[in-house]
Amino acid sequence: MLEIRDLVCGYGAVTALKGLSLKVDEGQLVALVGANGAGKSTTLRAVSGLIPARSGSIHFAGRDITGTDPRKVLAQGIAHCPEGRRVFPQMSVAENLAMGAYLRRDPAGVSADLARIYGEFPRLAERKHQAAGTLSGGEQQMLAIGRALMSRPRLVLFDEPSLGLAPNIVERMFAVIRAICDTGTTVLLVEQNAFAALELCDYAYLLETGRIVLAGTGSTLIADPHVRQAYLGG
Ligand code: ATP
Repeated sequence: MLEIRDLVCGYGAVTALKGLSLKVDEGQLVALVGANGAGKSTTLRAVSGLIPARSGSIHFAGRDITGTDPRKVLAQGIAHCPEGRRVFPQMSVAENLAMGAYLRRDPAGVSADLARIYGEFPRLAERKHQAAGTLSGGEQQMLAIGRALMSRPRLVLFDEPSLGLAPNIVERMFAVIRAICDTGTTVLLVEQNAFAALELCDYAYLLETGRIVLAGTGSTLIADPHVRQAYLGG
């Protein structure tokens, strides 16, 4: 469904991705793990069209989307749930969710999805008129996930959804992400919490300084001596 080939991207003099290739098959939950600064967020930004590719290509659902602007990428079915959640703090929960659906022209479908998200996250329903900035970290993360789902995406890109959350909330959040995949939405998950991501995923890639150095099932990576040593505390 998503195929990145030999992608090179960067910021000024910094080359963050140095020829990255990876694939996400439809219906899969694929994890992209690696250390701080390896290029995980850059990969997601490139897919979303937030930064240009210097070379290489990105194909989605059979189309070349390299260099496509973010709004069109979203319209094609890719939602990005960014690092640090980035909810609109002054806007209410309901307004944040509505923003996720801003390109849609099917009001009945939008209402049905909104009802489903409130059903899934009752805390958001209870707080629908509250400013998003007043929610707890875990609630803001659920709101960011709900907002991404409001575009009815075929693929969701999650950037570090566990960052800064209490352990019990992290567990619930990973369960939500697994459920999103199990109900038919393809997921590309970026995480520094390597063990949790590898346990959760169908397939995984390890990124080191802008290149994929290892790929396989989560259990293959968990068993790999280099991964154990460098990312799983031995
Ligand atoms: P993190 O978990 O810290 O977000 P990451 O694996 O997602 O790590 P990226 O954020 O993609 O890594 O960063 C990859 C490289 O690009 C790093 O060397 C980083 O310093 C650099 N970089 C990222 N964003 C910018 C930017 N806006 N300007 C300049 N360099 C950047």
